Amino acid sequence: RSELVAAVDAVLGHADRLRRLEIRANADTAADAARARAFGATGIGLCRTEHLFLGARSSLVADLVRARTAPERNAVLAVMTRIHHGELVEVFAAMSGLPVTVRLLDPPLHEFVPDHAERETNPMLGRRGVRLGLTVAGLFAAQARAVAEAALTVRERGGDPRPEIMIPFVSTERELRPLRTEIETALAEVFAAHGESMEIPIGTMIELPRAALTADALARHADFFSFGTNDLTQTTWGMSRDDAESTFLRDYVDRGVVEDSPFGTYDQAGVGQLVATALRRGHAARADLVTGVCGEHAQLPEAVARFHDDGVDYLSCSPFAVPAARLEAARAALHHRTRSLP
Ligand code: PEP
Ligand code: MG
Repeated sequence: RSELVAAVDAVLGHADRLRRLEIRANADTAADAARARAFGATGIGLCRTEHLFLGARSSLVADLVRARTAPERNAVLAVMTRIHHGELVEVFAAMSGLPVTVRLLDPPLHEFVPDHAERETNPMLGRRGVRLGLTVAGLFAAQARAVAEAALTVRERGGDPRPEIMIPFVSTERELRPLRTEIETALAEVFAAHGESMEIPIGTMIELPRAALTADALARHADFFSFGTNDLTQTTWGMSRDDAESTFLRDYVDRGVVEDSPFGTYDQAGVGQLVATALRRGHAARADLVTGVCGEHAQLPEAVARFHDDGVDYLSCSPFAVPAARLEAARAALHHRTRSLP
């Protein structure tokens, strides 16, 4: 068995020397982060902070959106900040020396607020992500402070935390610009209070068609883009990512309207064109823009080849998919090279 493991490691090592794409993982807990690292991930490309509030803690998200006064809201934020701090310390420590992209709160509210259906008929297109950040005063600043404080705790313990902060569900620079300023201010306050400093890149997800089409404007306020192909597929096709599979989509496949679910395949003609457009526009506005993909499509072989060809910098997939993604990225690099031979 150890010979087999050594052989697999040798193949993966060879793949790592060939590939250009960096492979990160989607992970929200220290256990997943450690697993991802053991599988060869060189960072976490998506740490979904709403996952810190699943189960018994979900009432906190409900309390936050229901809070009517600033003291009520701040009391909830204080509890949430403590939870962030505890969990992020563990994740940053597990990934010491490697980047961890902390995605600010993006909870589809029907999953967290019991009576939410009375207020939004389509919560997946409702007050999520950046929309919460803009309408719940102090939310993203509190999350940014928790990131900075967790990073300082890890540093005090001798670790090398490399956090990044990512804003979800953005469609216009008018969302991104003020929140970036709010986050930068919060980070600067924490570091000043401790007499420390740390570079924390701030980026945006590209997961709505409008964001892709106006990526040049967004790139002026973002250090990196991460493509959320789950939502980008949902909104490009106008198909609910939660419902499509169980409603008409099987019929569509049977009738040959689509070959397979656009959520399980990579739609180069539609979603892929939006990704390519966003990459072109983003780089035109900012040459050193870093780009990644963190939707499920990051682990589809045909999509990996496209992302390589399009010049994406990294893919972020589930920890268990990391070894296969390393191989796929090498295959994409080889394929690309042989195609460009005379
Ligand atoms: C996405 O939309 O592709 C994404 C990665 O974010 P989430 O799945 O959390 O909406
Ligand atoms: Mg998303």
